[in-house]
Amino acid sequence: MSHTILRGGVVLDIAAGTAAPADILIEDDTIQEIGPPGCAAPDGAIEISAARRLLHPGLINAHTHGHGNLAKGMGDRWTLELLLAAAPWITGNRSTEDKYLSTQLGAVEMVLKGCTACYDLSFEWPLPTAEGLAQAAQAYADVGMRAVVAPMVADRSFYEAIPGLLDALPPTLQQRVGELRLPPAEATLSAIRGALRGWSFNRDQVCPAVAPTIPHHCSDGFITGCAALAREFEVGLHSHVAESKVQAVTGIRVYGHTQTAHLETLGVLGPHFTVAHGVWLDHDDMKRLGDNGASVAHNPGSNMRLGSGLADARAMLERRVNLGIGTDGANCADNQNMYEAMRLASFVSKVQGPDWRRWLSTREAALAATEGSARALGFAGKLGRIAPGYKADIVMLDLDHPNWLPFNDPVNQLVHTEDGTAVTSVMIGGRLVVDNRRVTTVDFGRLGDRVAAARERLAAANVDNRRLYEALVPVVGSHCPGLAASPYHVHRNGARLD
Ligand SMILES: [Zn+2]
Repeated sequence: MSHTILRGGVVLDIAAGTAAPADILIEDDTIQEIGPPGCAAPDGAIEISAARRLLHPGLINAHTHGHGNLAKGMGDRWTLELLLAAAPWITGNRSTEDKYLSTQLGAVEMVLKGCTACYDLSFEWPLPTAEGLAQAAQAYADVGMRAVVAPMVADRSFYEAIPGLLDALPPTLQQRVGELRLPPAEATLSAIRGALRGWSFNRDQVCPAVAPTIPHHCSDGFITGCAALAREFEVGLHSHVAESKVQAVTGIRVYGHTQTAHLETLGVLGPHFTVAHGVWLDHDDMKRLGDNGASVAHNPGSNMRLGSGLADARAMLERRVNLGIGTDGANCADNQNMYEAMRLASFVSKVQGPDWRRWLSTREAALAATEGSARALGFAGKLGRIAPGYKADIVMLDLDHPNWLPFNDPVNQLVHTEDGTAVTSVMIGGRLVVDNRRVTTVDFGRLGDRVAAARERLAAANVDNRRLYEALVPVVGSHCPGLAASPYHVHRNGARLD
């Protein structure tokens, strides 16, 4: 048993809105006691000074994609549908080493920016492998960050999933996208089963989950197959639901009702279930999620970047949906900064109307990015708070940084002022993963060299995929907005098409 004591810091209690001087005693990876400054510590306890530091619980990213990190900044004006069409170009021809590298790069960025755990929907073409998932998991374990790693899967290609899209393509492109057809459901489900059965990582650090990517990209049998695996192995289930208006309209066309209503019919909603985005959820959908104890990973940055819209987090909270906050992948965010995600969650609620009583408070945004996200990851009661019994995942902010001068209000400044530049040290499970602004677990210079080499190799390998994307843009880029132009009523009971 080992002890560490963090001395001289100011400890944030988000729920209470207070920050008070206190010492934190840690036993192994868990917070044992929050004591008065100078309190006794067991013999041999390692002392770490937190003088002039604000200590806040590690931020938790409820939705990201490890494979996206090598693709940051590759595009500008793309919708979700253009991003999906760009996938072979921006994520094609990845080696096993690239899977590790891309994930590790994101993990390093997240810990440097005060994030200690994430929910990663990880993609491999054409289907997930135990080896690829283990590489992603190992990347987090090597950085010392916590993660839930979920293979992101489907059994229909994007072109099969969007009504009329295939017919809108000229024959040569129809043939090319025909090559993007996915393996049959049974092959992918059995690959996931193999990965879940052989999972060798400590689940407190890196835990698996299952992510049927978008409901109508999956047959019903595939969705229920994923849900059955999640139940059997007691892991989370995560899906992009009601993200874009194209998705919302397609849901009604394909199912005759919303995607969420359909998922409820399939019996897959529950406390282990997370909706990513939920921009186009109607109030009935939110009630379905709330009544089932499900979560929404709110990604305000990605939702604006892809033109998906502004999610109504207040209406979700009113219907008892557990709200987490995420960045989404770096291929559509394009950073992994949870301070920015919290700030945007606050701003997006405020831009929706003049009734300030419906806006998210900074307290609500900060709780969503900590305890709310923790619950979505399956770590309720273990992560998201600095309190006895919780894991010692603690971020130290420099109170002499301009972000904190003057120090007026801890929660308002955490959400509205802090941008990650005041982060000095980050502890995860009692271990300093960032110490004095440097990652202690990774050779940063070597990482940069490997990323540069991978970028060059992938750019050359994906020349044809880039040409394919450029040929697809005029069709996808006009067909999908056309579909989204359907009259569609949301935010009142029963979304419908006229
Ligand atoms: Zn996503």
